[in-house]
Amino acid sequence: MQDKTKALRSGYNPKEHMGAMSVPIYQTTAYEFRNSQHAANLFELKEEGAIYTRINNPTTEIFEKRFCSLEEGVGAVATASGTAAIFYTFANVAGCGDNILVAKQSYGGTLTMAAHTLKRFGIEGRFFDVYNLEELESQIDEKTKIIFFETIPNPAIEVADVQKIVEIAKKHNILLCVDNTVATPILCKPLKLGADIVVHSTSKYCNGNGSAIGGIIVESSTAAQKIKENPRYSHFNEPDLSYHGLIYSELEGAIFTLRVRLALLRDFGGAPSPFNSWLNLQGLETLALRMEHISKSALEIAKFLEAHPKVKSVNYPGLKSSKSYENAQKYLYKGMASGLLSFIVESKEAAQKVAESTKIFSLVVNIGDSKSIITHPASTTHQQLSKEELKAAGVDEGLIRLSIGLEDTKDLINDLEQALSLI
Ligand SMILES: *Cc1c(COP(=O)(O)O)cnc(C)c1O
Repeated sequence: MQDKTKALRSGYNPKEHMGAMSVPIYQTTAYEFRNSQHAANLFELKEEGAIYTRINNPTTEIFEKRFCSLEEGVGAVATASGTAAIFYTFANVAGCGDNILVAKQSYGGTLTMAAHTLKRFGIEGRFFDVYNLEELESQIDEKTKIIFFETIPNPAIEVADVQKIVEIAKKHNILLCVDNTVATPILCKPLKLGADIVVHSTSKYCNGNGSAIGGIIVESSTAAQKIKENPRYSHFNEPDLSYHGLIYSELEGAIFTLRVRLALLRDFGGAPSPFNSWLNLQGLETLALRMEHISKSALEIAKFLEAHPKVKSVNYPGLKSSKSYENAQKYLYKGMASGLLSFIVESKEAAQKVAESTKIFSLVVNIGDSKSIITHPASTTHQQLSKEELKAAGVDEGLIRLSIGLEDTKDLINDLEQALSLI
C-alpha cells in the first residue's frame, strides 16, 4: 500500500467496531476481564488485550499500528508527548554511568534533557555536530548506549548525511535513533535508511491542527538484532526482576517498544489520552496531502524571500543555495523539504518589526500547524542568551523563522511583502 492509503486505512477494520467509519474513542481507564485466567494470561503476555489505559488502549493501539505502517517499522508505542517519547527512548537503554550521543542540531528541549536533566540520573549527554562526524565517532566508548539526531533539525533546518551516521552506528553495534518530527514519515523513512528507532512529536505536522500534544516511538527489526547478545544492552539479555524474570531478548519481534510499554509506561506513566490519540489519527488521514502542499508552498516562499532586496539570506534545504540541498535531494521524498524556513534581515529591530507586522502569519512558538507561524528567536526562544551566546548558537539577531501552513501561497507572500516594506 502507498502512504496516502495507509494513512486512511492501516491498523483499523470497521467491521470489528460496529462498522464505525471513524475510529471509536475508547474513553476508559480499565477493561473487564472475562475471568481470572484471562487476567493472568494478559499479564503473562500469553494473550493480547487491554489491561489499563496507562499500558494500552484500543484507540491508541490503532494510532500506533497506523503510524508504524507509515514508518515501515515492526512495533510502536505512543506517549503523552514528543518529549516523553525521547526520554523513554533514552531511559530504555541508558542507566547511571552510561552516556548517550546527541546531535548539537537538536530541538532545545532534547538538548536540555540530555545536558542537564539526565545528568542528575547519572546519564551523560555527549554532543556532536552532524557536519563533523569525527566528533561523533571519537566520543563513542563501551558505555555509549544510543546515537540520536533529527532528519530536519528544528530550529537549525539542515539535512544530515543520514547514511554516514547509519554506518558509524552499525560499525560500533549501537542503536541509532532519529527524531523524524519535521520530515514526517511522508518525506523521509529513517528505518528504511538503516536507523533502528524513530521518535516523533506528533504534536506538530502529524496532528497538523495544533490540537493535541503527543509522541510516538517506532522500531525496526534491526533494533532487536543489535540488542540480542550485545553486552551494551545487558538488561535486555538478563532476567528483568521487575517483570518476574522476563528476558526481553528471548521474545520475538518488537522488544524495544515492548520494554518501553511494560517497564517505562508502567513506572513513569506518560501515556497518551485516548482522545488525543483520536485527534492524532484525524491528523494522520491528511498528512500525505498536507506535506506535499506545505513543501511546495515553502519552496515558493523561500524563492520569493531569496530574491527580496531587504533579505540578507534564506535557509531552506529545498533551495539550491542551501548547504543541505544535496542531502535533501538524496534523503527526502522528491526533495520535498517540509515547512520550516528561516531568513535574516538587517537588525534585531527590523526582525521584530516584520514579525509583529504580518497579518496572516501568527506570532507563536510552535511549528507544524496548518496555520502559518512566524517567530523571532532572539526575542523569544533564545531571549535569555547574550549577544555572544546567540552567535555561538548560530542565531542571528535578525533571524526570523517561518513554519508554513496550508493558507494560499500567494496570500502568504503578499503578507511577507507588506511586512518587509515597513523596514
Ligand atoms: C516539538 C518537538 C519535540 C518535543 O515534542 P512535544 O510534543 O512538544 O513534547 C521534539 N522534537 C522536535 C523536533 C520537536 O519539534
